[in-house]
Amino acid sequence: MDCLFCKIIAGEIPSTKVFEDESVYAFRDIEPQAPEHIIIVPKNHIKSANEITAENSAVIAKIYEAAAKIAKEIGFAENGYRIVNNCGVDGGQTVGHIHFHLLAGRNLQWPPG
Ligand code: 5GP
Ligand code: ZN
Repeated sequence: MDCLFCKIIAGEIPSTKVFEDESVYAFRDIEPQAPEHIIIVPKNHIKSANEITAENSAVIAKIYEAAAKIAKEIGFAENGYRIVNNCGVDGGQTVGHIHFHLLAGRNLQWPPG
């Protein structure tokens, strides 16, 4: 399958790994939008939030567990952070493998653009 994040997970495209376990991979975003910008993905290919079902949704909990671990390890858990999932064209999704942006290190504004 021609999927950028599947290739990153497989190590075919280099990435700066932040966290990995049996079901989740996390790496630094190539174009960071905050001092800390980490992408967390399930290792199995799920296209977007639209494809989450009762059969595959357990990995989403794993992603949030990973985010909490990463936040504590890097040290921004206390100050806070934002977890963002963009879905589809209007959501601003540019890579067709579901991913969660973990953003931290500055006071993030709301609402998003
Ligand atoms: P989206 O816009 O789909 O929500 O997020 C995709 C993210 O993947 C963007 O923040 C973009 O900077 C990041 N990205 C795209 N290509 C690469 C890459 O080859 N390596 C890494 N580390 N990040 C990438
Ligand atoms: Zn994929």
